Amino acid sequence: MAPELSVRLRGSEPPVAIPRNRIHFLFGSGRFSYDCVTCGAHCCKGFGYQLRTGDEFEEHVRRMPTLAVFAEHSSSPSDGRLSVRNCPPGCFFLQADNRCGVQVDNGYEAKPETCRLFPFNSFRLFDNRLIVSPHLSLCPLSIAGVGEHRAQSDHDALAIEMARAGINREITTVRPAIADGRKLIETEEEIVRLSEQCLDVASYSEFAAAQDEVWRTDERHSTHDRAAAASFRDLVVEVLGGQTSKLKPGDPSLTRLMVTMTPILRAEILFPPVTSADAPISPARATRMLSVIDLVAEFARASGMAAMTYHTITRLFHDFKPLLELLSMLDHEVAFRDGDRIRWPFPGPESSARRYLSLVRGILKSGRPGHERALGELLGTPTSGELLERVAYLKGVARCFTGILVPASSGSRVRRMGWHHHSRAAFQRWMVINLPDDRILRVRH
Ligand code: SF4
Ligand code: SF4
Repeated sequence: MAPELSVRLRGSEPPVAIPRNRIHFLFGSGRFSYDCVTCGAHCCKGFGYQLRTGDEFEEHVRRMPTLAVFAEHSSSPSDGRLSVRNCPPGCFFLQADNRCGVQVDNGYEAKPETCRLFPFNSFRLFDNRLIVSPHLSLCPLSIAGVGEHRAQSDHDALAIEMARAGINREITTVRPAIADGRKLIETEEEIVRLSEQCLDVASYSEFAAAQDEVWRTDERHSTHDRAAAASFRDLVVEVLGGQTSKLKPGDPSLTRLMVTMTPILRAEILFPPVTSADAPISPARATRMLSVIDLVAEFARASGMAAMTYHTITRLFHDFKPLLELLSMLDHEVAFRDGDRIRWPFPGPESSARRYLSLVRGILKSGRPGHERALGELLGTPTSGELLERVAYLKGVARCFTGILVPASSGSRVRRMGWHHHSRAAFQRWMVINLPDDRILRVRH
């Protein structure tokens, strides 16, 4: 630990330096490793890299005089940052043996910031605190065994490397999911420590219950204990139309993967960019979303995927995020957030659109005292169809509702309902569907 160290945000005016005790790594120290020799240089075959204007850019142009043609300012000329865009099959400096030409000729420290810090270069900024997690794509990260420590992901070594040249100030500023952002960060660090202790738990449900213990104060969505976590899991399987008997929970390597990745995915959920307009998701609800990913991963395994990796989980998380959000509230009453619009048109066949409408009406009622019905109950009846249609319907509903559903118990009520899109064709379609309750739909045409 190097307490005196600080990371400069290059280009910030007035100058900003973040001390070590405000740098928060949301993964276990030494937990990940990677092998650039066998990887095939994935990260050098992506979209490019970033450079500082001035000395760094001049050094690259000295090596490759024609490179300037492919560089452009990242946002404004004054931010001191350039993007160099790669073309397939890879970076201008990538050698035939998949090694970086800059590093081969001038050493590791000469590489651009993007490449030096990769894959631990996913930065978030809040209240002069830096939240660090691994990049979600490209690098095929491996997870160290219990008791092993990999130098490539050692927190202090990474902090030293960040401090050496500073990092660019153009990083994502986040809006923590709860008002006390400092508490959120510190408690999520506690979950990192917990994940290190729970690498050998028998099932993810056990770790989900342990996460809830850390967030005891927020019990509205919590699974409280192992039995509650398992029963929530059964409910999700039922709504998805799956059969629990076809799943084989408790694969140790999958559970360890999920436990290790939990703090990283929680950071994705709990620290959205300030620009995000979606309703905040509580820490306990984040736990539930991760329980659903664990389940979806089991569905993937039951569908023939034998090997699960870091990228399997990040891809599932990305692809299923709206559905995870929806399913995380299955046994709760929900309401539409004040002032939000329900998105339309609903994708899929007309029968699904009708079901969607009845669901919208049910949720509107559940926003009024005395008409409470849990989301699972509202979803349960209309989803009792053929399996493919059921899943397509659930995914469509999830996309329409993402970011606008909140727990009804939070006091939110629907004040204004409108439609995101309201073409004449959509209106005529609605006439066919024969919507009886005009509180739901207002169409101007
Ligand atoms: S993707 Fe990861 S393992 Fe592959 S070359 Fe880049 S840093 Fe190395
Ligand atoms: S500069 Fe080097 S490490 Fe960075 S993308 Fe190019 S070849 Fe890869």
